[in-house]
Amino acid sequence: MTDLAGRLALVTGAGSGIGRACAHQLAAAGAHVVVLDRDAGAAAEVAREVAGTPVVADLASPDFVDLVPAEVDVLVNNAGFQHVAPIEEFPPEVFSTMLKVMVEAPFLLVRAVLPGMYRRGWGRIVNVSSVHGLRASPYKSAYVTAKHALEGLSKVVALEGAEHGVTSNCVNPAYVRTPLVEDQIDDQARTHGIGRNEVVEQIMLAPAVIKRLIEPEEVAELVAYLCGPHGSFVTGSSLPIDGGWTAR
Ligand code: NAP
Repeated sequence: MTDLAGRLALVTGAGSGIGRACAHQLAAAGAHVVVLDRDAGAAAEVAREVAGTPVVADLASPDFVDLVPAEVDVLVNNAGFQHVAPIEEFPPEVFSTMLKVMVEAPFLLVRAVLPGMYRRGWGRIVNVSSVHGLRASPYKSAYVTAKHALEGLSKVVALEGAEHGVTSNCVNPAYVRTPLVEDQIDDQARTHGIGRNEVVEQIMLAPAVIKRLIEPEEVAELVAYLCGPHGSFVTGSSLPIDGGWTAR
């Protein structure tokens, strides 16, 4: 059992999907959860559900760091989005924003909370990467680039944090049943010129050997494991939860 009583957790993108499930899981383990999202309504709702604290911030703007409490014990870098387009049509401004939200913001957050973790001699950083942190897919240049960069950041934090009791890991899901994936089905159907069902069966579920979407709660269980006693020797790792995708 993960016991996070008395710990302060910050989950980004906690208003929806995997982040929301993480907020619930960490709160159930006893943590007080700071629910950060750019959607004020969603942040308030999830904060109410988990008796946590909402923080409304856009991670694409660097000012958000001022809104983050310094005394965070568990940081879950989860917020992210997707854009599907061939490289020659990929909007440069979307590429830039994706790197801000999914690489620079995690760096700024880690940088802000590490001193407190070092002082207290304990901290857990969990980065919600993706199977796309380990493998590439066409039409996802910014996303694959950002997730691979996040993998690198996570490993450096593991090396620097170890002597201070801080672990840093990535979790690497394949397709999870969240709004991000629902939106992507339409994008992929348009880009590949096929129907919605074909996108799910022929593209999303093709590389994995277990033919179903993952539920957000399954990813949140893995995040909680990394914050619990049995995860204390796991650091600098990337843990696939991908139905066998990366076995190939
Ligand atoms: P989701 O349901 O869309 O939730 C993402 C949350 O992050 C949303 O509430 C979103 O707000 C918020 N967010 C996005 N950009 C933000 C910003 N600039 N500042 C603050 N909040 C922001 O997506 P999800 O599927 O749970 O994805 C969560 C993480 O898991 C992402 O990093 C994603 O790459 C990763 N992941 C997802 C899957 C999957 O299949 N779903 C697989 C592997 C990895 P808005 O709703 O306002 O955009």
